[in-house]
Amino acid sequence: MSTRTVYLFVGPPGAGKGSLSWQCVDQLGWKQVSTGDLCRSHIQGKTEIGKKIDFAIKSGKLVSDSLITDMVSDWLNVNAQDESSFILDGYPRTVGQAELFKKLLQDSFSDLRVVVIVLKVSDSQVITRLGSRVLCKNKGCQAVYSTRPESPYFPKQENLCDRCDSELIIRHDDLPEAVAERLKSYHHHEKALLDYFDYLKFNVITFDASCNPEVMFKRFKELVGNV
Ligand code: ADP
Repeated sequence: MSTRTVYLFVGPPGAGKGSLSWQCVDQLGWKQVSTGDLCRSHIQGKTEIGKKIDFAIKSGKLVSDSLITDMVSDWLNVNAQDESSFILDGYPRTVGQAELFKKLLQDSFSDLRVVVIVLKVSDSQVITRLGSRVLCKNKGCQAVYSTRPESPYFPKQENLCDRCDSELIIRHDDLPEAVAERLKSYHHHEKALLDYFDYLKFNVITFDASCNPEVMFKRFKELVGNV
């Protein structure tokens, strides 16, 4: 039996799904895809899909289940053909998407083992994190920083990326109204989604994501090592 695993990262905006994913890519050699990044690259590339979803993304609303599943399916068909484990960051996030994903697994990736990772963090922490989040303007980099000096993500040079020296900018959907919408949407879907994962008998691991990124990665490795 294959030991290939797909990890589904679930959690509110700002929980640290992206940061944890990149640590897994850099240090464990896994692959990852973030559906938020896929959406943003359509917008930046001014594709037909990008034009359709621009407003939803900026206002923090969800893109349709079928559109987002098509993006994931395209990514999987290109990237999930070898033996590596990989992460889907931010997908599925509704029961409708989970149903489409289950079908995709059955049809094309029936060898994959699924592990769901749920990152828990309070709304007030999300608001603090996203209210101070900036990211590298360079599309090929997009590293994430914080404007709070006490944060481990505070850049070494003011408003410049540590990796490529580009300017740091605020993501449009990190403005307070869009953050409120994203949080509302997350809470609206979370319970039904987790119940559905239970029903599918997916292995679900929940852990506290209020800690710093190094501690989170260490805990994550301990947890998945035991699965
Ligand atoms: P967040 O931390 O809010 O989840 P992401 O970068 O993952 O940020 O997503 C940004 C936006 O992209 C979301 O607010 C939504 O508009 C869209 N998006 C990303 N993933 C999905 C998904 N699985 N279903 C629907 N829309 C999505």
